[in-house]
Amino acid sequence: MLLQGILVAQTLPIKYIRSAVFRCPDSLCRSQQGQRVAGNVIQCVPHCSVCGREMKEYCRARDTGDQVLGLLVSPSALENPGSKEFVRHQSTLVCFQDELMVDLELGVRYDVPGLQTNAYFQAWNVQRWVSDTDAKIRHQELPSLLMPPAISALNAYLSHCCPSSPWALVAALAAQMAADMFPTPALLHLKLGLILSLASQGRNHPPVPILAVGADTLAAHHLLRHATLLAQRCVTLSSPSHWGPLHGTAHHDEQGNSWLEAGALLLASTGVCFLGDWAKFKSTNLRSSVLSVCLGCHI
Ligand SMILES: [Zn+2]
Repeated sequence: MLLQGILVAQTLPIKYIRSAVFRCPDSLCRSQQGQRVAGNVIQCVPHCSVCGREMKEYCRARDTGDQVLGLLVSPSALENPGSKEFVRHQSTLVCFQDELMVDLELGVRYDVPGLQTNAYFQAWNVQRWVSDTDAKIRHQELPSLLMPPAISALNAYLSHCCPSSPWALVAALAAQMAADMFPTPALLHLKLGLILSLASQGRNHPPVPILAVGADTLAAHHLLRHATLLAQRCVTLSSPSHWGPLHGTAHHDEQGNSWLEAGALLLASTGVCFLGDWAKFKSTNLRSSVLSVCLGCHI
């Protein structure tokens, strides 16, 4: 079974028992040879095959490993921001053991083959999901990436009309953004910035954050909101108090495990985190955390 999902929360590494050795407690019993038992040995202590007594663990022979529990949510919960469907999603508890837990990152989409057990989904393997376009770029198949026919025709036309302008195509594309709301020349600089920011996503360097400053905040809000629909993934911050810290939070569960939960910025990895109007960030801490992210390009 293949589970595809975005990692939204994970625990710190937890010790688990791979296997343990048991021996008969009766020193006079003929069965003095140890028996190695794999799996969850706490719940299934073996009995001696000769005298039938419950065996005792030989603790020095216990073999332990590390595991991480993670919560994966369906990619459609955060991707396809243009979709009008309202769907509720529940996360799946996944167990990553030993080397599978190395390099797990919150907010990243993974393909996880494995098996559903009573307690959790046991991962057999884990792989970062790569989009078709990124796969082609990595394998240097750029020439085979064809532009959509309409864009290709526009590019040919502009190359003929304005052969000396390297910006002609991107300016023409930017002008068409939200064409049903604004005339094409309106807010062109902001539209160019949004195209640049969208193109910077999902690469090996931090994306370009956009901070629009102006008197008409409603127009900027509509334009930015429209641009989020073009992104691969979008997280909208409806209320700062509802979302909590932008990077994430930490808490302990009933079993004493330490959990790290992704905040809005991490959930928006490879996409857009739309913070909305600056006026709703009333707390100084929230304002400074947003500014530090924008200025430091941490995400
Ligand atoms: Zn025995």
